[in-house]
Amino acid sequence: MQQEKIWLSPPHMGGSEIDYIQEAFELNWIAPAGQNLDKFERDLVARIGCGNALAMTSGTAAIHLSLILMDVQPGDYVLCQSMTFCASVNPVRYLGGIPVLIDSENETWNMDPALLEQAIQDCMDGSIVEKNPSLKSLVGDSPAKKPKAIIPIHLYGMPAKIEEICAIAAKYQIPVLEDAAEAIGSKVDGQHCGSFGDIGVVSFNGNKIITTSGGGAMFSKNKSWIDRAKFLSTQAKENRPYYHHEEIGYNYRLSNVLAGIGRGQLEVLDQRVQSRRANFEYYQNQLGHLPGFFFLEEPEGFYSNRWLTCILIDPKLSGGVDSEQVRLALEKENIESRPLWKPMHKQPVFKDFPFYGSDIAERLFEQGLCLPSGSSLSEKDLNRVVTVVKSIII
Ligand SMILES: *Cc1c(COP(=O)(O)O)cnc(C)c1O
Repeated sequence: MQQEKIWLSPPHMGGSEIDYIQEAFELNWIAPAGQNLDKFERDLVARIGCGNALAMTSGTAAIHLSLILMDVQPGDYVLCQSMTFCASVNPVRYLGGIPVLIDSENETWNMDPALLEQAIQDCMDGSIVEKNPSLKSLVGDSPAKKPKAIIPIHLYGMPAKIEEICAIAAKYQIPVLEDAAEAIGSKVDGQHCGSFGDIGVVSFNGNKIITTSGGGAMFSKNKSWIDRAKFLSTQAKENRPYYHHEEIGYNYRLSNVLAGIGRGQLEVLDQRVQSRRANFEYYQNQLGHLPGFFFLEEPEGFYSNRWLTCILIDPKLSGGVDSEQVRLALEKENIESRPLWKPMHKQPVFKDFPFYGSDIAERLFEQGLCLPSGSSLSEKDLNRVVTVVKSIII
């Protein structure tokens, strides 16, 4: 008989979520407005330490509106980490922008600051179009343009070299949209991810470290940006007794019922981070010594929420065992694992856009595997996983 399924990253409720949902029902605020929303945003601001927050229907929606605030127009360059989930880049295309994809570096698996600077210079002097002639039809009359935004990502909870990236952005005066969708609870030198960029975004999708079943939020020190995002996220209704619209809006505001889940989840965020970090430690202790197995350490001053524990397996050192063999062996035992994100420059939809770098993101995709990382995993579950992995390494 098959043992019970172990999922990659299932939701994990704390307990009080249902009370906040009950409150929404009692007050009959079953709408994208109400006190759960106000209080959830207040709690988010306190947690991330960043002036203003807006809760939205998804992280993707928050990225979309952020790029609108940063005035991304058709033909504009937007620099984005290639190694990520498609939701970081898709909104650039919603607006007709040109994603310029940047490879990762080895210490954090995130955007390489040196490659970022090279790409910025190529955009500004227009040489990017000589290097990528397929852009000619997209850039319009002026290939030499300052990029409108930089999107670094804190992959799997490991912070990017965000201080270096923000310094380069400041040098060229380009706004930073910090995609912290996977990194709520992560920090650099004590400062929370999501609070470094001009705008920070988090996600509360069902598989993230805390969830509202679906949802996201935007952060900014700039209150006028958050006010404008609120206006755009609620169909751009002008302040009149009847519905009057002077611009195109969106229906991107989070429901007050779901914000109730978010309030409860924020209360247990610290515990969730502790559990995920304990998973990482367990796997590293049990598997870290195996030949060809590699775990990503935290650089000095970096604190990861360890949303997902990822391993790299180099088949040249592991006696021929690769990450796909491990994934299949786990699947046979009813255990879910998953390859790392396939980089955007290797995706058919983005393959014609510029890429700066070599093979770092590609190698992460080829050798990487995300192990079950839920905060509700028991020691018995973890033991089941490592037993399967060890059994195929001789
Ligand atoms: C999950 C995720 C998003 C999108 O968030 P949704 O809430 O699912 O729309 C964006 N970027 C990254 C890196 C993510 O992992």
